[in-house]
Amino acid sequence: MTRITGNPHLIKKINKSLVLDMIKSQGPLSRAEISQRSGLNKGTVSSLVKELMDEELVYEIGQGESSGGRRPVLLLFNEKAGYAIGIDLGVHYIIGVLTDLQGNIIKEKQTKFPQKDYSTVLTLIKETINELIALMPESRYGLIGIGLGVPGIVDKEGRLLFAPNLGWKDIPLKQDLESLFHVPVIIDNEANAGAYGEKRKGAGQSSYNIIYISAGMGIGVGFILNGELYRGTNGFSGESGHMIIEVDGLPCRCGSIGCWELYASEQALLEGAKPILSDEVSLEKLIELAESKRQEITSLFGRIGNYLGIGINNLINTFNPEQVIIGNRLSMAKQWIFPAIQQVIAQRTLPYHRTNVDIQFSNLSIYSTALGISFFVIEDFLKKGERIEVFL
Ligand SMILES: [Zn+2]
Repeated sequence: MTRITGNPHLIKKINKSLVLDMIKSQGPLSRAEISQRSGLNKGTVSSLVKELMDEELVYEIGQGESSGGRRPVLLLFNEKAGYAIGIDLGVHYIIGVLTDLQGNIIKEKQTKFPQKDYSTVLTLIKETINELIALMPESRYGLIGIGLGVPGIVDKEGRLLFAPNLGWKDIPLKQDLESLFHVPVIIDNEANAGAYGEKRKGAGQSSYNIIYISAGMGIGVGFILNGELYRGTNGFSGESGHMIIEVDGLPCRCGSIGCWELYASEQALLEGAKPILSDEVSLEKLIELAESKRQEITSLFGRIGNYLGIGINNLINTFNPEQVIIGNRLSMAKQWIFPAIQQVIAQRTLPYHRTNVDIQFSNLSIYSTALGISFFVIEDFLKKGERIEVFL
């Protein structure tokens, strides 16, 4: 008989991560319950729990229900052992959140910026991070890392290759932030982060196949497929904002023509409002005008909703998702765009695909991306951070 064995250090690391994850997601739990649910023997659980307690990631509280003998001590995850910073870098704004290790937002900071040159924006990002650090409570691990969700294509080394709506190419974001703050930095596409934020703490917690539409100045899409974030071969998936909707359409900054985001984004909405209003317009202002029942504006929102619906139809027919979540800034205009989206889906999506799909708006409001990227940082720290010694 062949016995399959693994590297004992690796197995220990996996077991420890499993125990921590159980306490984090199912706690309060007793050592006996962890042993029962994980299949690990009691001695192993006790020694792993002791390590986690020494690391201040787990602590004991009161005593649970007794099933006859001595009443067991219960274990809880110490979400205040460290803090993460998640930044959503938009085309004209920065949203920064400081979260604990359960992804609860402790503090936040929002900034708007008109300029788009990298060094100006980097200074603003740096200020946002410094302000959040100054507000961070005392803790064992302090700042465990920083995540930045960006509206563009990011490679596996954390380099922003191309962000057409910012006009940036080939920016070493991870390297720049790590040399400023000396903590681990994760850079990812904002729609990937947004999809993950919705899966972990938002509207998508109980779904396995989610299409997250980040509708802001551009459009990005994040895919949760079979419960996991799908990134594509090189991490470049989700550039659906550049799927072609009009064959002979408008020229796009990506070099193509007729891209979806030219017709269905916040940018498209603002462009559409120019001939109607002479003043400088914003999404917020247009929502106000729609609320006062200004007909040209409500029909403009309807047109944007119609184009959003067409792209969403294409994605639903392709992926057969359980859920479509529409997030980012255009979700503020839900009331004015949703009827048109629903109409397109009702009339044009394949009936088999349409039947069970749930289309809704983000319930994390504008925080999906900042939270999602913060979760990447937290999970990286808990799973393979420097905290756990690895002997591979
Ligand atoms: Zn394009």
